[in-house]
Amino acid sequence: MSTTTNASEIAVPFADLHAQYLTIKPQIDAAIAEVIRTSAFVRGPFVERFEYEFAQLVGASHCVSCGNGTDSLYIAMKALGVKSGDEVIAPAHSWISTSETITQAGAKVVFCDTENDTYTLDPARLEALITPRTVGIVPVHLYGQPADMDSIIATAQRHKLWVIEDCAQAHLATYKGRRVGSFGIAASYSFYPGKNLGAMGDAGALTTPDAALARRMAMFARHGGLKKGDHAIEGINSRMDGLQAAVLSAKLPRLAAWTARRQQVAQTYRQLLSDIEGLTLPVVAADREHVWHLYVVRHEQRDALARHLAARGVQTTVNYPVALPFLPAYSRFDHKPGDFPVAHHHQSRVLSLPLFPEITAEQINTVRGALESFAL
Ligand SMILES: *Cc1c(COP(=O)(O)O)cnc(C)c1O
Repeated sequence: MSTTTNASEIAVPFADLHAQYLTIKPQIDAAIAEVIRTSAFVRGPFVERFEYEFAQLVGASHCVSCGNGTDSLYIAMKALGVKSGDEVIAPAHSWISTSETITQAGAKVVFCDTENDTYTLDPARLEALITPRTVGIVPVHLYGQPADMDSIIATAQRHKLWVIEDCAQAHLATYKGRRVGSFGIAASYSFYPGKNLGAMGDAGALTTPDAALARRMAMFARHGGLKKGDHAIEGINSRMDGLQAAVLSAKLPRLAAWTARRQQVAQTYRQLLSDIEGLTLPVVAADREHVWHLYVVRHEQRDALARHLAARGVQTTVNYPVALPFLPAYSRFDHKPGDFPVAHHHQSRVLSLPLFPEITAEQINTVRGALESFAL
């Protein structure tokens, strides 16, 4: 996010969490007060209620909450038995949680290049990456657009691999009319404040159709046991706290409307920005419902454009400036740009424009004006 210090100069913030809070202040304040009144701070009734409500909302049979959307990926892999010597495939273009948790679970991360239009894992490149050591695939529904799940699942089934969907940016998105999160053995969600459904701190969850896996994930997240004194295995401490659960339950009934508003803003951007030269607008693949966590355009002079927008009070961000294989964290693999040509091409061109449910028509016009004046 931009580091502009004088808030009065920001005409269009990248996101506006406070504006969202104001639309639902009485419900949130009451929810927080109730958690404080009952001291149900860690797990407890508010967390159980949210797990139930979230499972209902996304149509999952089991929901296991945890501390954040990075732990959730790690917990799922540990519960699936990932171990040293295993290989797990992840897209080359994502947030580092997707790949760092594979390493932390003990496996080797194998990157797969992404599709030019959708920024999601390119299924055509999967087959060549699979070895006898491959155990699973972690597709990411990046920016809010579902990955090509039919092709990914077909390849996974052919090779008997599990699939964990990283849904951190894609709450309620659909692929061929079916909710993301319902394709793999598990789905990982983040409720980081800036996500489409955001807490007021860190929070995360997993969903799964598999009762035994849900149990193993819950055990691992809670010190390896579901009851005190009952530690069947060693686990970790990754729990959702009551305040976050109560805030999320208060926000959850609004998620569908907020998502519809994001979609409306994206449509307005498409209409207003399609004639701006040099700007590549997002493409939504057929049969996929995008939930617009991020509105990402491409431009050959991305950095100059971002500075031009910042000077006009329009905050932007880059998700992500260095594709995963090229991060210092992965220098051990010695990857070359040609190994992941699409992700490498994108890293210097992608730019995320402001998009949040409360953005006003005037702010959208300010974004258009600022973009247009750069093109001139
Ligand atoms: C935000 C995010 C995560 C991690 O979520 P946290 O709750 O911040 O740990 C994982 N994967 C992707 C793609 C994300 O965008």
